[in-house]
Amino acid sequence: MPNAVDFDTYAEQFGGAIHLDFATQKPDTFSLYLSGYLQFINALSKQGLKNKRNETLSLQSGVTVELDSEAFAQRLGGRHYIGMSIGHFFSSVYLSSELFYRTRLFPNFGESPLLGGAVQEATSIGLAIDGSFWTEHAHVVGERILGVDVGDKTRVNYMLFLNYVMSILALHHELYHVVQGHCSVLNKLGLSGLVTEAKPYNIDPLYYKIAKKFELSADHASMTLLIRMILSDSDIHTATGKVNIPQRDRVRLAIIGAGLVSSSWFTLQQRSKISDKCHPDPRARFINFCMAARPELQTVQSAEFDDVIQLSIDDLASICVICNDLKIALDGINGGSFVDANDIDFEQNLPENVCELLDEEKYYY
Ligand SMILES: [Zn+2]
Repeated sequence: MPNAVDFDTYAEQFGGAIHLDFATQKPDTFSLYLSGYLQFINALSKQGLKNKRNETLSLQSGVTVELDSEAFAQRLGGRHYIGMSIGHFFSSVYLSSELFYRTRLFPNFGESPLLGGAVQEATSIGLAIDGSFWTEHAHVVGERILGVDVGDKTRVNYMLFLNYVMSILALHHELYHVVQGHCSVLNKLGLSGLVTEAKPYNIDPLYYKIAKKFELSADHASMTLLIRMILSDSDIHTATGKVNIPQRDRVRLAIIGAGLVSSSWFTLQQRSKISDKCHPDPRARFINFCMAARPELQTVQSAEFDDVIQLSIDDLASICVICNDLKIALDGINGGSFVDANDIDFEQNLPENVCELLDEEKYYY
């Protein structure tokens, strides 16, 4: 592959890219939302980020045609690429639609669909949907979800926001693999520089510890950015006036989404043929997401956020009842004893040469 190609050419190795034409999208379609998220990432990457050697960040982002759920970041030929598969986006659409349209969960978020009548309640929900599911069932699922008359627009908006959270956390996470220099450092260590979320990206035990710290630091930064955007009302849906949800509920959904993303990635990793030691335990990831959110919420000095993290943990516990994947991934979520300080402490205990390389490769505004 020649140096510094565009995203379309890069994505050929994954079967091609999905074209999201910003100018011609119909309003209120999921593809419009997805293109909005990518516009946001592109805007961030164009803010003049430079590394220590005064090199400007060159970043391309997009969506691949793959139905298997995946998100990725890579440095290749001097340029960085980030993105997700359309399967990742579909899976979060599916999961958030099922939760809001077909269950009595979140009774305070709008009117439960069952109160309005004719919806058959979901008895079990899969957390991570694979490509074969979509090729076999996409038609039926699309009909069932899109055909449900939810009636209550509030519930639709909350569902859209949860889908937004799951997609933007993934894209932020990939962005920070680039901005924090992870892809470049992996390159320099003689690895491919391709970082993937649903499968392990290297199988050399020497690099497991480094990879886990990279994962946690990308999670931490992605959550910090998302909470800041919500608290400043600059998150995309609010900014475009599409969704009118109180800040407190948006924060609650952000934390629920973080639990769902860390658990669904874990479920997908479990399905891969190689055992994955690159990505941390989903419980450690979830706690790390919460640890990123807490100081941001404290800056607001409002009592309305005091109990919001605990409420989200309670919500996730309720989802566990109909989602066995989530139960397995987040087993004992309220116990607290599972937190491994070495996993969370991602700033320290990296080999010195890696710290030096990271500092050189990091991009700054
Ligand atoms: Zn990652």
